[in-house]
Amino acid sequence: MIVCVRCQRIMRPRKNGVPFVELLEDGMTPYKLWESDQWECEDCGTSVLHVDSRQNPLAHSYEETFGQSIAAFDPAIRAKQRGPRHPVTVRDIERESDRMYDQEGQQT
Ligand SMILES: [Zn+2]
Repeated sequence: MIVCVRCQRIMRPRKNGVPFVELLEDGMTPYKLWESDQWECEDCGTSVLHVDSRQNPLAHSYEETFGQSIAAFDPAIRAKQRGPRHPVTVRDIERESDRMYDQEGQQT
């Protein structure tokens, strides 16, 4: 299940087997070819491509047939890597709350 945080609505699976290319940090060079499921929020229209952590890429750039695989799947989406400052994660928030607790501890 995937939930849209903005709308607080459970997203709906829209399309299975959506191929996309993961790019290297340069934002240009194909690195891996993935097959994903596309989910969509019916309220705001936000859509995401989800890859299960147990999945393996369809093709990897070190394979001789990588170019042929890309051509065969003809992916419309090319996903850039996260930037140096990626969005805040739940773990970051937990770390932050630990820090606040420590500060309170020092004050008492
Ligand atoms: Zn939404």
